[in-house]
Amino acid sequence: MAYVFFILFMLIRVHAWFKKEEMMKRLIAGNWKMNGTMSAAIKLAQGIVEAIQNDSKVLENNDFLVCPPFHHIVPVQAELSMAVSLGAQDCSPYEVGAYTGDVSAAMLKDVNCDYVILGHSERREYYVESNDLIRQKAAIAHENGLIAIICVGETEAQREAGEEQEVVGKQLAESLPEGATAQNTVIAYEPVWAIGTGKTATTDDIAAMHDFIRGQLKAKIDNADTLRILYGGSVKPSNAAEIFAVDNVNGALIGGASLKPEDFIGIATAG
Ligand code: PEP
Repeated sequence: MAYVFFILFMLIRVHAWFKKEEMMKRLIAGNWKMNGTMSAAIKLAQGIVEAIQNDSKVLENNDFLVCPPFHHIVPVQAELSMAVSLGAQDCSPYEVGAYTGDVSAAMLKDVNCDYVILGHSERREYYVESNDLIRQKAAIAHENGLIAIICVGETEAQREAGEEQEVVGKQLAESLPEGATAQNTVIAYEPVWAIGTGKTATTDDIAAMHDFIRGQLKAKIDNADTLRILYGGSVKPSNAAEIFAVDNVNGALIGGASLKPEDFIGIATAG
């Protein structure tokens, strides 16, 4: 009898696992950073839409997102098909008012953004953004109906010192706001030393960190199994398949390779 229960239990587990895998499409997210003219941004958006149209099967497993510079968002949106979502690379921690140079989460929502990248290591480094500030930005992004892509990752020195989980654990604990859910939050694990350098973490290192992140999320968030964890750091078509094969990698945040339609879509078709 116990044997029958055990088999039934295993069948339910396997069924649940397949359902989860089936439901979670990868998110292929392009961070265009501070690159390009208006006409180059429009051409890039057109190229991405055309590449998807030429291989529409790619939509079976992948959702696409592009995050242009602020002032390119509206013209780029006019070029995008429903298959590609739109996001920004940052937002203000404030709702409205006298904050020169800021763009609010409400303004992003108003121009049909669905996502905002927060706490990218370039912002943490060059603008000294703290976990506290990132948490405030994420909270206001959520309040305005945006999905926050919260970036975490260790520096090379921190990895060499064996501190990577401690660093990422602290970033997660302090950057995730109260109301974070599997629906309104995406985590991007981006080892700082792998961004724009051509170096990628080994698949073992990616597996260990993504597994660690999943564990931290489970302790904090309901249905954390369905929260996407992206890997970022020199992802390109030639290394995408092995990265996507790693457990708990649910997509990629892509910088350099997102600026060429064939590479951006090539990353999705490779994996
Ligand atoms: C990034 O900036 O988020 C990034 C991952 O850049 P790249 O793909 O160029 O390493």
